[in-house]
Amino acid sequence: MECSVKEARDENGQRMMMTHLAMGTVMTHQAFGSRAEESLMAVRGEIARLEGLFSMFIFESDISRINRSAGKKSEKISPETCTVLEEAVRFSRRFPGYFDVTLGPLVDLWRRAGESFIPPAEENIRKTIPLVNYRDIILNIREKTAALRQVGQAIDLGGVGKGFAGDSLRRLLQNFDVTSAYSNLGGHVVTLGTKPDGSPWRVGIQHPRYTGRLIGSVSVENKAVVTSGDYRRFTADAQGKRYHHILNPATGYPSESGLISVSVVSEQSLQADLLSTLLFVAGLKKGCNLLRRLPEMEAVFVDSEMNVFITPGLQGRFRGDKNIQIHLLHERKERRT
Ligand code: ADP
Ligand code: MG
Repeated sequence: MECSVKEARDENGQRMMMTHLAMGTVMTHQAFGSRAEESLMAVRGEIARLEGLFSMFIFESDISRINRSAGKKSEKISPETCTVLEEAVRFSRRFPGYFDVTLGPLVDLWRRAGESFIPPAEENIRKTIPLVNYRDIILNIREKTAALRQVGQAIDLGGVGKGFAGDSLRRLLQNFDVTSAYSNLGGHVVTLGTKPDGSPWRVGIQHPRYTGRLIGSVSVENKAVVTSGDYRRFTADAQGKRYHHILNPATGYPSESGLISVSVVSEQSLQADLLSTLLFVAGLKKGCNLLRRLPEMEAVFVDSEMNVFITPGLQGRFRGDKNIQIHLLHERKERRT
């Protein structure tokens, strides 16, 4: 399936739906309005363009060029790549230890191991960890150039690329006078406005252990709902131990914070994407503490015992499955950074 576009007309007016492959996942979009079809074509083009800038699998992308020039020279980059790197570094600096886009060499090590189901040798992980360091990104915002300090370093935007795309597509849809839309960028939902009838969008949150089941849903307007989970991409070794794709930059191993899924609800799609990965690594306790400094963000945490925790702002908006125990996290006291 390259791309399919379908039109549906209902009591809400004209609705266009589109499904396509991009950024290694299936994306589906629906938009309402007289220019909906045009808007979705533009969305598809924009996502492909961004993939061409961010992907480490595309030879001429900004990221591939930066990675090839690591330790040697800086590369001219697009304003979009500059913004993503700036945001990523900002969050890594503000909440150190959990999120790092220079994780490329480690991701690569695990990706290769994944194919054969044998985890990388401990020594290889130990040798690779010093290459992971966001402080080695040399970013010149005015000149729009980026470089990596050491040979062997590599940037991987896997934890933020779709987030940036979400913010861009929302702006793009608005240029086509679309005021109501729902996009699923592979476990990453972005909504624009409300449903055409004025009611909120209801976004389902996937059950981390049963495919096709939900733990609940959250009703939102104009927000992104982004989930990072240990179930999205994983392999298991001969003993059945699960190795998933969210790594702890400090240990070099898949994160074992006790959480198996984190969803972040925020108006900013990029920040929600980044934060869902970051909180997943931080774990429940530290994650809650750092959320106090981000009052505009709400979150749903799921631990390995299938306890579900929600931040106070989601009370009344999160509707959980009746078989699942929901815990309300305490009121956040601090509201400032
Ligand atoms: P998904 O890709 O399933 O949407 P995430 O948004 O959580 O899930 O991103 C996971 C991807 O981000 C990984 O595949 C990897 O490329 C990258 N990544 C994994 N761990 C980290 C981390 N601690 N910091 C930054 N990027 C990470
Ligand atoms: Mg993410």
